[in-house]
Amino acid sequence: MKNKKRRSTRFIVKEKDLSRKNIWGHALGNVVTIDKNLNIEDYISTLIHECLHVLGPFLSEETVEEWGEDLKDVLLDKLEDKKYIKRYE
Ligand SMILES: [Zn+2]
Repeated sequence: MKNKKRRSTRFIVKEKDLSRKNIWGHALGNVVTIDKNLNIEDYISTLIHECLHVLGPFLSEETVEEWGEDLKDVLLDKLEDKKYIKRYE
C-alpha cells in the first residue's frame, strides 16, 4: 500500500437519479452507476457493492452482499472511530 494519491482508472462512477427505478445502483462492465440521492452510508455501501460486481463478475449476489456489508462496516467503523464521520445521532 503506497501513501500516494491516485485516481482509480479501473472504475468509472456515474451518479444519476435512480429513485424512479427503485434501485440504489448497478454495474455494467467497469461502469458503476449510483443513485445521487443516497445518504453517505448508503452511498458508500452501494459503491462498494457495485465495485465488487466489477472486480468479480463471477461472484454470486450472495457473496457480493456479504463482502460488501463487511467492507462497508469496517470502513464506516474506522471512519467513525477517527471522527471523520458521525453516525447514529
Ligand atoms: Zn448486486
